[in-house]
Amino acid sequence: MEKKEQLYEGKAKKVYATEDPELVIVSYKDDATAFDGTKKGTIRGKGAVNNRMSNFLMGKLAEAGIPTHVVKELNDRETVVKKVRIVPLEVIIRNVSAGSFAKRYGVEEGIPFDEPTFEFSYKNDDLHDPLLNTSHALALKLATREEIDTIRGMALKVNEVLKEFFAGCGVRLIDFKLEFGRLSDGTIVLADEISPDTCRFWDAKTGEKLDKDRFRRDLGSVEEAYQEMMRRVFGGQA
Ligand code: ADP
Ligand code: UDP
Repeated sequence: MEKKEQLYEGKAKKVYATEDPELVIVSYKDDATAFDGTKKGTIRGKGAVNNRMSNFLMGKLAEAGIPTHVVKELNDRETVVKKVRIVPLEVIIRNVSAGSFAKRYGVEEGIPFDEPTFEFSYKNDDLHDPLLNTSHALALKLATREEIDTIRGMALKVNEVLKEFFAGCGVRLIDFKLEFGRLSDGTIVLADEISPDTCRFWDAKTGEKLDKDRFRRDLGSVEEAYQEMMRRVFGGQA
């Protein structure tokens, strides 16, 4: 499968057309941004880590019955995926308080929840991705009620599968962001990526952060944390 014209360049990935109108190729970059794109940098090797890890995790999710956009990994950085119309909602699941949750509600980070939380924000850079609820999403016609119900069910299932998988790697899955898309027939599938850019991972024993917070918060050893997550996920297979 060959790359044709570039359709889009985002902050972390490029998207290319292919000869098949139903398929696109995503190409993962080493570029990193945070705080609404105001902090910019490079994390060497990140593109390959995120590509390979995201494909591996989506493979596990597919085995668990969750439909995903992944079709075929082409090389370290590039993957053929089903072309979707992205539902403009950033879906966030949390198991433990951290990040914007801790800040917004004035609690410390690291408080485990009895049940995971589900929230979404409006995926709109100009508006800085504002938080919204289901009635807002319906009013704005971002998705139908049925789609939101499907997305919520799938996101909670993703959490169950990934929480258990990462526990086996000695990693606590603190929170993560998912994006969903519509295939040409309207079917909802899991799209975008699942990686240290989009999840918070804390070492189960030491609590060490093994994700993009090392970049956001200038904690150092950013590349090493991404490589450590590769080793945890792939074990002997990396
Ligand atoms: P951003 O747009 O936030 O800067 P990226 O750099 O990750 O993010 O760019 C990738 C873009 O491709 C995102 O807008 C994402 O929603 C979109 N995308 C992800 N998966 C698919 C897919 N299967 N089909 C079409 N677009 C996708
Ligand atoms: N997240 C993301 N993209 C975003 C916003 C959040 O991938 O645009 C992820 C983030 O990495 C974390 C989770 O979603 O794993 C929850 O993020 P939070 O709302 O705490 O926001 P942040 O602290 O990143 O501002």
